[in-house]
Amino acid sequence: MPFSHTKVVGPAGRFGARYGMGVRRKVTQIEVKQRGKHRCPRCRALTRMERIAFGIWRCPKCGFTFAGGAWVPQTTLGKTMTPEELRLIELEKQKWREKVKKKEKV
Ligand SMILES: [Zn+2]
Repeated sequence: MPFSHTKVVGPAGRFGARYGMGVRRKVTQIEVKQRGKHRCPRCRALTRMERIAFGIWRCPKCGFTFAGGAWVPQTTLGKTMTPEELRLIELEKQKWREKVKKKEKV
């Protein structure tokens, strides 16, 4: 990843100071989730989905192609995340922040 100016909001930092903290936090959640693993609607494998096109995803395990959210295989908007998912997101965000912090010290 190239040099980053962002500290707090993760990937959503590219929006700068715009759109407000709440929105950027949300974007970060979505984007972190996007990079994570998702459950295939057919074989139920928890795996990293391949994004073929905008909103079209494929499971690398069974080759099942399906339409999903534009950003994530499963639409997260309007869906409440399970505590497990939220914990995963927090973990990812923390990792990301540590990476950024290390880079900034150099
Ligand atoms: Zn599958």
